[in-house]
Formats: sequence, C-alpha cells, structure tokens
Amino acid sequence: MARLQPVRGTHDILGEKARAFRYITETFRTVAERYGHQEIATPIFEFTEVFNRTLGETSDVVSKEMYTFVDRGGESLTLRPEYTAGIARAFLSGGLQQAAPCKFYGFGPMFRYERPQKGRMRQFHQIDVEILGVPEPQADIELLAMAADLLEALGLKDHVTLELNSLGDPESRDAYRGALVEYFSAHEDKLSEDSRQRLKRNPLRILDSKDEGDRELVKNAPLLHDYFNEASRDFFQAVTDGLDALNIPYTLNPRLVRGLDYYSHTAFEFTTDRLGAQGTVLAGGRYDGLMEQMGGPATAGIGWAAGLERLSELLPADALPADSRPVSLIPVGTEAQTAALKLARDLRRAGFVVDMGYRGNLGKRMKRADKLNSRLAVLMGEDELARGVVTIKDLDRGAQQEVALEVVADHLNHYR
Ligand code: ATP
Ligand code: MG
Repeated sequence: MARLQPVRGTHDILGEKARAFRYITETFRTVAERYGHQEIATPIFEFTEVFNRTLGETSDVVSKEMYTFVDRGGESLTLRPEYTAGIARAFLSGGLQQAAPCKFYGFGPMFRYERPQKGRMRQFHQIDVEILGVPEPQADIELLAMAADLLEALGLKDHVTLELNSLGDPESRDAYRGALVEYFSAHEDKLSEDSRQRLKRNPLRILDSKDEGDRELVKNAPLLHDYFNEASRDFFQAVTDGLDALNIPYTLNPRLVRGLDYYSHTAFEFTTDRLGAQGTVLAGGRYDGLMEQMGGPATAGIGWAAGLERLSELLPADALPADSRPVSLIPVGTEAQTAALKLARDLRRAGFVVDMGYRGNLGKRMKRADKLNSRLAVLMGEDELARGVVTIKDLDRGAQQEVALEVVADHLNHYR
C-alpha cells in the first residue's frame, strides 16, 4: 500500500528521540512548577475563529499554514498551530478572570502546513508557558528567567543567545507605522511580492521577511524605538534592568519582530548558530491586546514556546539520564516458566525492571540479557527450583551465587 508511510512533515517518535522528548518535558515541568505555573492541556483542535481572530489574517500561520477542516457537523475546526490562542480561549470560556493572575504551562503537538526541512515539521511539539493578567514588567522578567533556567538545566546555556526587543505599545506602533510605510513606499519596486502585500496590510511584518532583497531594505528602515512614547520606554527599561539584576545576558535586536499580530512590548528569541537556518529554539513575547481581540475583557498576557525537535537536536550527548538497567529472568525448562512468571511479577511489583526472554535456550537468553545491558541474570533451573533456590549472576563482574527464592527481592535491593 503506497500510502502506508508517515504523512510528509510528520515523524514517529521512539527510542532515543522519545527519551529526549521525555527528559526535556520533565525538566521543563520541574522548572515551570518552581515558578508557580500550573499545568493546562487544551484541546488539540479549536474553532477556526480562535486562531484567525487572534493570530491575524495576514500572519504566515493563518494565511498559509493552518490545518483547517470542516467536521461532520459542519463546523470549521483547526488543528492548533500554537498554544497561546487556545489558552486565552480557555481563560475566557472557563471564567478564569476571577482567578487572575494565572500562570500556566503545557506541552504537546502543534500543526503547521510548512515546507518540511531540518527543524521544521508539519507536526511538531512545543513546551509553552503563559502568564495571564499581569501587566507589570516583573512577569516579563520572570518568564525570561524561567527560560534561561530551563536552558541551563538542559545544558544549553552556552549554546544560545537571548535576543531581545520591544515592540512598544499600540500608540508607539501607530506612530512608527506611518514612518515605515513612507520608507518602504519609496522602495516599493525592490520589495518582494509578499512584502508589497504586507506594505498595504501590515507593514511591520516586512521587518520579519525572510526574502534577501527585503532584508537589505530592512537594514536602513526607521527604528521603532525612535517612535516610543514614555510608557514604552519605561517598560522596556524596567525589563532590561530586571535582566541585568539577575545577570541574564541578552543582545538587543531592534529588528526582532514576532510573526503574530497580537504582540506588544517585550519580544524575544533564544537563538543558536548550531541548527542552520532553523536557529530559533525558544520564542515569545507580551500580548496585552489578545484577550480584547478575542472579545474578552482587556487582560495582559505574556508567554513563550520552544520546539522539542530543535531543543532535542541541541542536547549534549551525555544529557540523558541513564535508564534503570533490567534484571533478566532466565528459566530453563518448561516448569521453570511458570515460576519465572511469578517471580517476574513479584519483582516488578517491588519496583524492578524485569525482562523475560520469551523463548530460546540458555545461551540465547543470556545473549538477550547482554543486549539489554541487564545488570543481573536470575537463572531458574528445574533442579534448583526443586531446592527452592535460583542462581543470581552479576553480569558486570561475572560472579554468581545461589539465593533462596523467597529472598530474591531483598538480594536484588543491593543493586538498585
Ligand atoms: P520560524 O520563524 O522559525 O517559522 P515561528 O516564529 O513560526 O518560527 P513560533 O511560532 O514562535 O515560531 O514557535 C516557537 C518555537 O516553536 C520555535 O522557536 C521553534 O522552536 C518551534 N517551531 C515553530 N514552528 C516549527 C516547525 N514547523 N517545526 C518545528 N519546530 C517549530
Ligand atoms: Mg513559522
């Protein structure tokens, strides 16, 4: 069957990759909970409106990347391309305004119809944090500190750079938009087709263009910071002061804009030069306008997300904690099978990882124990069992000894 293969841009996750994902997710969970965040899991699909109202009709995600379908009931649904909109929807539909400020973390698959390449998939996985209902810059500082702590815990501190910018408040951006339109209009013939569209609908997006020609023009474009009002300047100052106080290094990048419509003030990315073109591993920012855009009461918000595929690609080779090594049970003869099944269950209940080769003679089963990197083998021969004992073999040292069946678990405790 020709179609019996994964859909382009999707992957099966198993073995080392699965262990890496679990390790990153567990480290993330620990760090996020230390910062007082609570877990949230929102549905993998939402009404399409949840995303196109919030991310902006002109964003790449809405205009060309969403997996949207009509379900059997005639509703337009979309597989989530990111976490923030779903969490904001949960905040509003769940009446969580009463509980604000709310600090959430979550993780799981996201879906975007992109051109698959290294570090860019159609189903990928994110870890995500959000703080809702905190307009103060302390939230920005804490979320950045949390990101830095996580990357440090994963051993990635020396491989990433925090790039930081502020998009100011809406008033500052309005003032800036005029200057930007004037500048790019004077160079319209040199803009890419996409950016000519952006010029009409959302000129700030041009700053985020990946087109070479656009990027040349962007170099000399006016700077948003020159149009900041006092409130925007003060806010950004408070954020950088906080980072300085916490010794969190950052690089100011006045060209950094985020791809989605709802951002204001702080915008940031942790980038690396070790992943080729897909160098952004963790990205986020403040989105104070989002809740109103969704039809809810004005509620400040800030968050970030990081891709598990890109993070796992960066993990140092020795980062993953070792798995607990199994105990191999090796029954010899048919009657020993039943005794082995019983002992395996007892040992597993006592917390041991137990493997029982399902077939083969002693030699075959010993080979399997070796392949699994078992710490111990428990040999269960029929005449031994008749005497109520088994032979425990230390596979690292080669030594072996007879142990009474009822004290096997106690004996194995020495090897935990
Ligand atoms: P890019 O500019 O690379 O397309 P983005 O701005 O679309 O990134 P975000 O929406 O900020 O990305 O997503 C946050 C993080 O999720 C990214 O930094 C990256 O680690 C990861 N990510 C985003 N899209 C993909 C994808 N298609 N495949 C794998 N990881 C992704
Ligand atoms: Mg993208």
